[in-house]
Amino acid sequence: MNKKTKIVVLTENDPNYMQVIQEAGKILREGGLVAFPTETVYGIGANALDEEAIKKIYLAKGRPSDNPLIMHISDLNTLDKYVNDINEKSKQLIAQFWPGPLTLIFHKKNSVPDIITGGLETVAVRMPKHPIAYDIIRSAGVPIAAPSANISGKPSPTRGRHVIEDLDGRVDMIIDGGKATHGLESTVLDMTGTIPSILRPGSVTRSMIESVIGEVSYDNHLEDVTQVPKSPGMKYKHYAPKAPIKIVVGSDDRVTDYINSQSTINQSQGLKVGIISPIHRVDFMQGDVVLSIGSIDRPEEIASNLFKILRKFDEVNVDIIYSVDFQGEELNIAIMNRLIKAAGHEIITV
Ligand code: AMP
Ligand code: MG
Repeated sequence: MNKKTKIVVLTENDPNYMQVIQEAGKILREGGLVAFPTETVYGIGANALDEEAIKKIYLAKGRPSDNPLIMHISDLNTLDKYVNDINEKSKQLIAQFWPGPLTLIFHKKNSVPDIITGGLETVAVRMPKHPIAYDIIRSAGVPIAAPSANISGKPSPTRGRHVIEDLDGRVDMIIDGGKATHGLESTVLDMTGTIPSILRPGSVTRSMIESVIGEVSYDNHLEDVTQVPKSPGMKYKHYAPKAPIKIVVGSDDRVTDYINSQSTINQSQGLKVGIISPIHRVDFMQGDVVLSIGSIDRPEEIASNLFKILRKFDEVNVDIIYSVDFQGEELNIAIMNRLIKAAGHEIITV
């Protein structure tokens, strides 16, 4: 793959804004690939109704073909062209959270190509809120399949430069629109069962959903790691930097002592040690590269920094990474879900 990729830096008040949006919309409509910011992470978009275009996404990302894509729409009136049984609860959630970082799973109609759903009878749909994402989809005039704009397995991209690192030469256009708002992928909620089930936690949390529609559950694998996830993508090793990560759980002091003593041992073995620390503990951590992930009082900040930090460790070539864990706030469930996967479930309790 060696395409000429057009890279455009774009803000909403850019005088060329509509021109760039229209160019991106045209590329998508005609079967090309465009990467753009959304309020979750950056997405790599293709015309969801064009099988050849979708194949290009799987190729550009190196994504396993059984991992289905989310279909992104900009017009609610088009939803029932693609899905069956939009029940009352779905309608309430749509009214509350769309456009926004909540993906809903419905039974699909035949108009949705099998290649998007990896052969499943269901399809995942979302309406993004980020103006660039929303306007591009509207301009394309077709639904857009848009998984995260990273090479499969790497941390999701939350900044334009992450996308350029991974996809320059693999897509037709990259729009660099700054920082993705939340920095975590959308919450995925399966609406096809009797009780809606969260397949992937995100910034729309369980209690936010329950406050609108009543009881929802977590998919079994989120509460018991031995269970097979219902969302095919959740079974893959994901979000991982090159170096192994170990998550250390315990009281502040014990965690700091443990990480520092392991770090000393690793350094004596000639290894370069990275540490993920909340800002209030950075000065107490002893490693080669100690990165602050933000304040534990602001989980949104931690969410927004997580993937950036995982990528940073690749740039500085550490050999091993230690991280504290994050608890207490509901958003931390989504943060820990990504961190635990990045760590391949390496958790040490001290
Ligand atoms: P990404 O495109 O990288 O945001 O990942 C999309 C996530 O949604 C993956 O974990 C997919 O496995 C999941 N997903 C997409 N479609 C479905 C579906 N029909 N049923 C269950 N999970 C899905
Ligand atoms: Mg992804």
